[in-house]
This record gives sequence, C-alpha cells and structure tokens, in this order.
Amino acid sequence: VNPIFGEAGTTIFEAMSRLAAETGAVNLGQGFPEGLEPPEVVEAASRALREGPHQYPSMMGLPALRQAVAASSKRWLGLDVDWEREVLVTSGATEALADAFFALLNAGDEVIVFEPAYDSYMPIIRRAGAVPVPIRLAPPDWRLPRAEIAAAITPRTRALVINTPMNPIGKVFSAEELRLLADLMLAHDLVAISDEVYEHLVFDGRRHQTLFALPEVRDRVVRIGSAGKTFSVTGWKVGYVSADAKLLTPIARAHQYVTFTTPPALQAAVAFGLNLPDAYFDGLRADLARRRDQLGTGLSAAGFEMAEVAGTYFAVAPIEGLDADGDDLAFCRRLAIEAGVAAVPLSSFYGARDVRSHIRFCFAKTEATLAEAMRRLARWR
Ligand code: PMP
Ligand code: GLN
Repeated sequence: VNPIFGEAGTTIFEAMSRLAAETGAVNLGQGFPEGLEPPEVVEAASRALREGPHQYPSMMGLPALRQAVAASSKRWLGLDVDWEREVLVTSGATEALADAFFALLNAGDEVIVFEPAYDSYMPIIRRAGAVPVPIRLAPPDWRLPRAEIAAAITPRTRALVINTPMNPIGKVFSAEELRLLADLMLAHDLVAISDEVYEHLVFDGRRHQTLFALPEVRDRVVRIGSAGKTFSVTGWKVGYVSADAKLLTPIARAHQYVTFTTPPALQAAVAFGLNLPDAYFDGLRADLARRRDQLGTGLSAAGFEMAEVAGTYFAVAPIEGLDADGDDLAFCRRLAIEAGVAAVPLSSFYGARDVRSHIRFCFAKTEATLAEAMRRLARWR
C-alpha cells in the first residue's frame, strides 16, 4: 500500500459531516450550499437525462459546455479562449487538479503551495512523484510573502498552485500579488495551476482576477473552474480546465486515463447554466454576501471574531481567547458535541497540521440554518 493514501485519515470534511450527523449538530463544516441550486439548471439536467444521450460523450467534453466555458471567460474576464483547443471538461475540479499534477510534474519537481491549502493538493502532488513546498500566509491579512517565495524557488521548482478566491480564508488575490507571481513564473520558467472554483463568489464590488489574464504568462497557466460552486451543486462534479493547447494536451491525456469523461446530462445542464444572464451570477453573489454578514453578526454576538471575507463561502475565526487550549480540532469536536454546531479546524489545511489557530465556517446556508447555528453558539458561550 502506498503510504500517501495508506496512512491518510478520512478527510476532515467527511469526518466533520459524520460527526454532525451523529450529534445532530448544524453543519457549517464541510463546504456545501443549502437551498441555492438554481431551479432552471436542475430542470436542464432533468430534461437532458430524459432526452439523452446516455453514452460516453467526447473525452474533451460536450462542445456546448466547452463553448460555454470559453464564452464565460470572454464575458467575465474579456479573455479569448479557443474552445476546441483550450478547454477540457473534467469530473470536478478535483479531477482537473489531479490531471494537471499528473501531466505536468515529473519525479523530484518542486511545487510551491500556499498554506492554508485545499486538502487535495499536496497528497496528489506527492503521488505524482513531485515535492510540495508549502509557503505559509499569515493572518490577519494573509498577504503573499514575497521574499519567502523568492527564497523557496530552486532549480527544481516547476510549478506553483494558487487558489483565488481562496478556501479556507476567503482571500482574493490582488493584482499586485498576481503580478509578483507572474514575474517569478517568467524569471524561473514556472507554470501555475490556478484553482478558481470560487471565481463567481467575490463580494463588495470586487472583481475576480486571474493569472490567465496576464498576457506574458497566459501560456503558463492552467485555469480550473467548477460547476459545483458556480451553481451550488457540489455533488455534480463537473469541472473545467482552460489552458494553452501545449499544456492542455498532456492534461487531456491524463484525463483520458483517470475518468475519461463526465456524465453528459450534467454537462448539458452546466452549459445551460453558464449561459444564464448576469442577473443569476450577481444574485448569487448578493445572496452570499448577505449570509456572510448574517454569520459575522451572529458570530460576534456569540463572542467569536470573524475575519474579513472577500470571496468564497467560508469565513474563519481565531480560537484565541475562546477557551480552546490552542487545539482547533479538539475545539471543533467540542463545538459539535457541546454547542451543536460543526465547523472545520484550519490545521487540516496545513501539511504539518501544526497551525491550530483558526476554525472555518461555511455560510452558504439558509437564513434559518444560520440563525439556528448562531443561537446555539450564543447559548453555549
Ligand atoms: N478546489 C477548492 C479550493 C475547493 O474548495 C473545492 C471544493 N471541494 C475543489 C477544488 C473541488 O471541486 P469539485 O467539487 O468540483 O471537485
Ligand atoms: N471543498 C469543500 C470544503 O472545503 C469540501 C470538499 C470535500 O468534502 N472533499 O469544505
């Protein structure tokens, strides 16, 4: 048994959802929305399921979805993407990430990963034979540490992974930060895996920005999106990759041996969704911004301190001063069992599990669910 997976525990998301189910806790742990699925997109899926086809679609993805992905890049970012040569559909962003790591990394390559990091990056990078090099962002503003990044780059560095908007901390990378990364990519001949699954979830008038929009590095960036986040259907597992054909071709070769393809009815529905008018995307953002504010008010009434959330549907709170004994995991267990609210410890987003300073709440829930969770927290405190 390979030790990377053989010795891995269950992911914290699964573990916390199980604990919430066992204890009856309100589940603000694992990131999944409640009550936000757009009915017209669900209807498009059910229509496609009735009408078929039901057999393997093209391994690159349905043309309608690849066209819609390219058209979205044009609509939201002003970018020209060639749907035939530069877009691939995958079974979720998780598969896209794995395909990219398998295709672009060789044994011994080093990959810069910013912590706190989404939990699938490092195990798959390691299983691809490469070496993750974590660089930690620090609260309260989680800014990119320029000197530390430059110092971490060696002749073996091949890639960097960025996630903007960033799970779990709600950070949105600034234009200056993207510029800094682009300069390093050019100076050291690096590629970037850009996980942009929360691209539509940016608040307070901010705009999503991507390395893929910087012309000097356009051909070095693998941009990854997910219908799970954009349409609040995390179980659908429809992801998409946009990249220059030189990068996309090997990624598609990996994809053909990992899943080969993705259910066609769901692809058709996601194509329909991506073509919805702006009002849908604006409405989702506005809705989530309201829920973020509801969480913030409730947390502060319960004595928690919520950090700023620029994007994603996650908010973190420091555990200092909360009688947590510096142990975020134990504190989350207590919260679920004693208070009846499930959250996720941020230590799970660190390879070494040694940073235990914060816990994460998902606020993509109904008002009633959030209100109940906040009542429970206030009562417990
Ligand atoms: N990247 C990040 C940062 C995520 O939060 C998620 C959500 N689980 C994923 C990738 C995976 O997305 P998908 O469900 O489309 O595989
Ligand atoms: N992306 C989700 C989160 O961060 C969870 C995905 C999963 O359960 N693997 O909570």
